[in-house]
Amino acid sequence: MSNANLFCALRKAFPADLDATAIDCADGLCLSYSWRDLDMASARMANLLASLDLPAGSRVAVQTEKSVEALLLYLAVLRAGYVYLPLNNAYQASEIEYFVGNAEPAVVVCADKNFNWVSKIAFKAGTQYVFTLNEDRSGSLLDRAAAMSDSHEPAVKQTDEMAAILYTSGTTGAAKGAMLSHGNLLSNAQMLKTYWDWKKDDVLIHALPIFHVHGLFVASHGALLNGSKMIWFSKFDPRALIARFADATLLMGVPTLYVRMLAEASLTPAACSKMRLFISGSAPLLIETFRDWQQRSGQTILERYGMSETLMLTSNPCKPEDGERIGGTVGRALPGVEVRVTDDAGKLCAAQEIGNLEVRGPNVFSGYWRMPEKTRAEFSADGWFKTGDLGQFDAKSYFTIVGRSKDLIITGGYNVYPAEVEGYLNEIPGVSESAVIGVPHADFGEAVVAVLIAKPGATLDATAIGAALKARIANFKVPKHIFIASELPRNTMGKVQKNLLREQHKALFS
Ligand code: AMP
Repeated sequence: MSNANLFCALRKAFPADLDATAIDCADGLCLSYSWRDLDMASARMANLLASLDLPAGSRVAVQTEKSVEALLLYLAVLRAGYVYLPLNNAYQASEIEYFVGNAEPAVVVCADKNFNWVSKIAFKAGTQYVFTLNEDRSGSLLDRAAAMSDSHEPAVKQTDEMAAILYTSGTTGAAKGAMLSHGNLLSNAQMLKTYWDWKKDDVLIHALPIFHVHGLFVASHGALLNGSKMIWFSKFDPRALIARFADATLLMGVPTLYVRMLAEASLTPAACSKMRLFISGSAPLLIETFRDWQQRSGQTILERYGMSETLMLTSNPCKPEDGERIGGTVGRALPGVEVRVTDDAGKLCAAQEIGNLEVRGPNVFSGYWRMPEKTRAEFSADGWFKTGDLGQFDAKSYFTIVGRSKDLIITGGYNVYPAEVEGYLNEIPGVSESAVIGVPHADFGEAVVAVLIAKPGATLDATAIGAALKARIANFKVPKHIFIASELPRNTMGKVQKNLLREQHKALFS
């Protein structure tokens, strides 16, 4: 019987020389890992998970700093046949409480420094085991795994069995867990391997977080499935990254990462001469960044588009014979991915007409964890997933994203849902109502800004409110500026006109 476990496909792609370097850490402990290390260490962790006798389909929730061991833990969860649930390491207690309460993971892994509060939340939600894993390779997870065998037969999985849950927020602020199967992940990774023309000698600079689709799946799967070495940065340091271009061929980044590297004098065509491919995604790449990069590096960024629920959907061409890379567009539908644009009545739009982007394919998730109604609402009757992104195709089938029907701010590549932040702001004593918007920001793409109205007789202190929020939600969601106003602009239906607020504050960071 063939095993559709994604780990089997990744393991099969390891090079014959298992002692060759698989991951070379460029910062932190500066360790180097061979392919054999990846195999043995993930086997030990998989054996540890197997020894816990967890029910089938158990979730393993992980909130740790970026480290190679955290990537190995992901591989171990696949290998053992459980469901991986990565959590942004910036999340605070109330956020973790929601995710753990919703997903009910059997195992939670966190940093030692957070063990007290995380374990309290986890045990209350019914979690059986809480392990720790720290950036410096310490913690109970590795201590326990060290006693385990370093060989492990991957659990047998079917293509449609769940491999991971990625939480993405909704307009209501309640995050939804997108259920991704082994088949979703493998089909997308295999297709990208061909379309992005991965070469035998490619070396990937991995500088993205690994709690998100971009760093965990697109980047890691790409390198592993090609048996390619990764140069691993646990923190993004533009100068250090450019210095390693000489040893690499490929980089995946969010626009903020490219903007920050452009600020470095060391970015020159000579510094980039060994690199063959710069990929950008997760947020819109400004045309100025696209052009500046061409000028400063001598190379053209390939912009692609995707999301947690669907993995990668469209991409600018990689090979010259597939066409040119056009700045400001996210390219064409990827092979095997069906993409259509419809109007609000569901009718297909012609080229150049703006509409809702809907997608279908082996890469599209099966639904939101324990939210059948929300799942139904996001799929059309004929099985297309409504991305919530608005855009148009041109005559050559290149797609341009012009906006979002979902109320979403993307700051530094991270998604922020205004309704969620407004919920926290409205709970602050003295706040009567709030409106959270995104405004242009040179570094982050968009910056989170809040406009607050005080309750009668109350005085609001923007600095104190910012500090109070920092203690409750991830830093990237905390508004960079808080305005106190006397009223919010509303339309005749009483709806806050966020477009007017965005217009009013658009030059705030210029
Ligand atoms: P996430 O699920 O966090 O990956 O966020 C997905 C959302 O990010 C998409 O629905 C888009 O709104 C946005 N996004 C991803 N890639 C791009 C891109 N290249 N250009 C514009 N928006 C993008």
